[in-house]
Amino acid sequence: MSNPHFPHLLEPLDLGFTQLRNRVMMGSMHTGLEDRFYHYDKLAAYFRERARGGVGLIVTGGISPSRRGWLLPFGGTMNFLGDIFNHRKVTRAVHEEGGKILMQILHSGRYGYQPFIVSASDKQAPISKFKPKALSEAGIESTICDYVRCAKLAQKSGYDGVEIMGSEGYLLNQFLCVRTNQRTDQWGGSIENRMRLPVEIVRRIRAAVGPNFIIMYRHSILDLVEGGNSWDEVVSVAQALEKAGVTLLNTGIGWHEARVPTIVTSVPRAAFASVSGRLKQAVKIPVIASNRINMPAEAEQIIASGTADMVSMARPFLADPEFVTKAAQGRVDEINTCIACNQACLDHTFSNQRASCLVNPRAAHETELQYRKKTVTKRVAVVGAGPAGLSAATVAAECGHEVTLFDSALEIGGQFKIAMQVPGKEEFKETLRYFKKRLQITGVQLALGQRVTQAELLAQNFEHIIIATGITPRKPSIEGVDHAKVLSYLDVLLHKKTVGKKVAIIGAGGIGFDVAEYLLHDTNTSLPISLPTWLREWGIDLEAKEHGGLVQAEAPHPLREIVLLQRKASKVGAGLGKTSGWVHRAVLQRNGVKMLAGVDYQKIDDQGLHITVGGQAQILDVDHVIMCAGQESLTELMPAQQSEQGPRFHKIGGAALASELDAKRAIKEGAVLAASL
Ligand code: FAD
Ligand code: NAP
Ligand code: SF4
Repeated sequence: MSNPHFPHLLEPLDLGFTQLRNRVMMGSMHTGLEDRFYHYDKLAAYFRERARGGVGLIVTGGISPSRRGWLLPFGGTMNFLGDIFNHRKVTRAVHEEGGKILMQILHSGRYGYQPFIVSASDKQAPISKFKPKALSEAGIESTICDYVRCAKLAQKSGYDGVEIMGSEGYLLNQFLCVRTNQRTDQWGGSIENRMRLPVEIVRRIRAAVGPNFIIMYRHSILDLVEGGNSWDEVVSVAQALEKAGVTLLNTGIGWHEARVPTIVTSVPRAAFASVSGRLKQAVKIPVIASNRINMPAEAEQIIASGTADMVSMARPFLADPEFVTKAAQGRVDEINTCIACNQACLDHTFSNQRASCLVNPRAAHETELQYRKKTVTKRVAVVGAGPAGLSAATVAAECGHEVTLFDSALEIGGQFKIAMQVPGKEEFKETLRYFKKRLQITGVQLALGQRVTQAELLAQNFEHIIIATGITPRKPSIEGVDHAKVLSYLDVLLHKKTVGKKVAIIGAGGIGFDVAEYLLHDTNTSLPISLPTWLREWGIDLEAKEHGGLVQAEAPHPLREIVLLQRKASKVGAGLGKTSGWVHRAVLQRNGVKMLAGVDYQKIDDQGLHITVGGQAQILDVDHVIMCAGQESLTELMPAQQSEQGPRFHKIGGAALASELDAKRAIKEGAVLAASL
């Protein structure tokens, strides 16, 4: 019987020799756990939760077939028989929950962060500090053997198949494109030669593993770099891979070095699904759509419309392991939605930390952070319904405590309500929708519109009082700070005060950048921006008529002249997220925002903002000066000293420490504290 809520998405997919229980795939993500043998119990627990949550197919993080293919020194590798014992913990856990799992074979080629890297040619990647060696013909043959041995070991480990990583600019993608393949032998030149390596790898793996083992290939269908493949080339590679023995074609969008965003929050949902749809017309095997699909409605639409046979979502399974079960039971409003911020997943991976999730700090920490029912129920007050307080209140209630959540505002959300006003951050409202539902389910008592005092709290016999009152914007001591030209970021984003055409922003942190982006757009246009507008802004041709799918971007029409300033001499925006900061910088640069570092603020008067930069005095003739100069903790409710008899007071989020605060820390601190009560 088909599912009443998502009949197409949750329909099984028959692969002939095996069947997948639905059309939802958890795409490959590197968590860091796969790199160390002593983390495989944690990795198995992580995958077990996702399999139990009903996903049809799981793909592991990338495992290298050889040392030369390492992304990082001593990264996860499968090249010895001994490697299979740890992997069996993973496959057993997934199979016990009725799921299926593929191991991704990833050879990083010139993207490896280590000195022994190889590629088709010896061209260095713009995002790497290492120069690769071009593989010799013998090196190519031994690389094929590495892939085959790796696939056979994966089969012995109990995997249901392998995914061969051929996109995102890794080794096989490097062979496929003239951007990186300048060989003149049988492995370079024409597209037939450039595709020889991936096709030969698939052919030889199929011969080695037999017919009843899934071989999925992740094919780069829109390279988004100069020297990428044309659509005709993409199709001919897909058809050759099908002939060589591929069971499922997964699709990849954009190389890591592409200067076009492909997965951050500002990318419209399912922006690239139509490209997978065109590929589906050209092959007979099932095709999988991916990138910025984060809710079941979009995924259902992709399958129902015949655009793809399966949908791959990766980060949404960090955010919510029960995504599929909740969709199947019509509990979509309970899904903890991935907001595509990259802050705890990709930013961690690229800075060599274990991946997790901003909205779900348990992700990849399943054995370490547990929300167990407590035997003794305690009375808990949480003051502040921002991310920290919401997290603390819902986890404490889930653990069985009696929780009251106070906020002086009439709605929950704290600063997240402000953040979601920023263009490209519309997804943040999903987190508040999730928490609102969670408060109901866990039975938290809400006391909104009440600015509680310490005396009121003490009168109510709470055993624990959690102060999550957040922050207040910093008002820097600059002469003229009370001048009529001065606005705070709250005046702009929350109180919607009118802002003139010429603006100076003091403070170039995350909020300074967000305010600049907000002011570039017409605040009356509806958000999120439409897909065609977004494609024109970034110069993307989904039909890939030009090689790589890049075209001239549309000239911007900024609404205002903006100067963004900071006192530090370092590059403006250097502190933004590792994998998303470049997008914010690119948007502002394209729109002519002037960025000034090493600034000394002198005063603000009718003439504008007086500054010195490198000893040179200047007056910025602006209509408004907007303060985005950081924040200070609000801790008025904390007692000077904890009393022995009374309730225990705790501080979390911005109330605990305003500096370097973000929602990732706020939510995690709330959850960790509440789980420990
Ligand atoms: P807050 O969110 O400040 O919540 C505190 C709550 O306490 C408020 O609801 C307030 O009304 C309430 N309160 C205060 N005093 C009292 C009292 N006495 N009685 C009752 N209630 C009280 N972070 C990210 O990680 N990623 C981003 O992309 C991001 N973008 C942002 C964009 C903008 C424009 C802004 C403003 C912030 C952004 N942030 C972002 C920061 C993030 O929102 C904060 O780090 C986070 O909200 C801090 O959570 P918190 O719960 O500690 O405090
Ligand atoms: P922030 O990142 O700490 O930036 C504050 C800015 O104000 C800095 O540029 C700082 O630079 C300046 N400043 C500090 N004290 C000042 C003073 N006395 N006078 C003048 N300038 C001063 O803080 P934020 O922008 O308010 O953001 C708050 C938090 O929200 C951040 O920690 C951030 O992580 C989070 N957030 C994240 C994102 C995201 O996309 N990930 C987006 C928005 C916010 P100088 O000292 O060099 O002048
Ligand atoms: Fe999604 Fe952000 Fe969580 Fe990554 S950290 S999975 S992008 S919500």
